[in-house]
Amino acid sequence: MQQDLRRNIALVRQKIARAARLAGRDPAQVTIVAVTKTVTPDVAALALQEGLAHLGENRVQELLHKQEKLSGLPAVWHLIGHLQTNKVKYLPGKVALVHSLDSWHLAREISRRFQAAGEVCRALVQVNVSGEKSKHGFAPGEVADFLAAARELPALELCGFMTMAPLVDEAEEARPVFRQLKTLAACWQADHPALDLSILSMGMSNDYEVAVQEGSTMVRIGSAIFGWNGFGQC
Ligand SMILES: *Cc1c(COP(=O)(O)O)cnc(C)c1O
Repeated sequence: MQQDLRRNIALVRQKIARAARLAGRDPAQVTIVAVTKTVTPDVAALALQEGLAHLGENRVQELLHKQEKLSGLPAVWHLIGHLQTNKVKYLPGKVALVHSLDSWHLAREISRRFQAAGEVCRALVQVNVSGEKSKHGFAPGEVADFLAAARELPALELCGFMTMAPLVDEAEEARPVFRQLKTLAACWQADHPALDLSILSMGMSNDYEVAVQEGSTMVRIGSAIFGWNGFGQC
């Protein structure tokens, strides 16, 4: 199993490096978040052993569970899935970055809970670039107002943007979505020079090479590392 994992991670790293070089970028600008939602804490621990420091979960309870099991290991935890406001109270002290900030209501609750805990929550604004009804996130046209309003929230630190591309057969088809977010992010950054909005979380197992070519700084990868079906099937 560890051999498969090692091989998968090496392959992902190679592909990121190739995609970055194609775009004239430094591969070191791309952080891999290993998405552990389908594997046990033991397997997540193997990923840490293989040098992947960043782990992503899409559910709060699962994140807390794995974190407890892996306590003592140097993992950086990311919450990448839709966050319900009633779960925010569990997060202070537990998460390095929330990728899925997708409503004003949620932003206010995050700031309220983290402020009460004497902490600041780092978060990415999730943008529904493709406009699919099934996807969470702000419409691109809503983001400017949100960024302006969020300045009132003392315990929320916005660090950039996240998007999920539509599920398509060919990764190429996702390219316009990534390109659009990169362009929009540059505009939003220009409007808010006091913020550092440099993180772009985009790209998953089936489309991360294209995402890196288009400027992704954080890829969220599950199945290409841990296998699509059991283990090592890729
Ligand atoms: C599951 C998940 C991923 C990883 O998906 P893979 O296709 O397995 O790489 C990335 N982002 C989010 C939000 C997810 O829920």
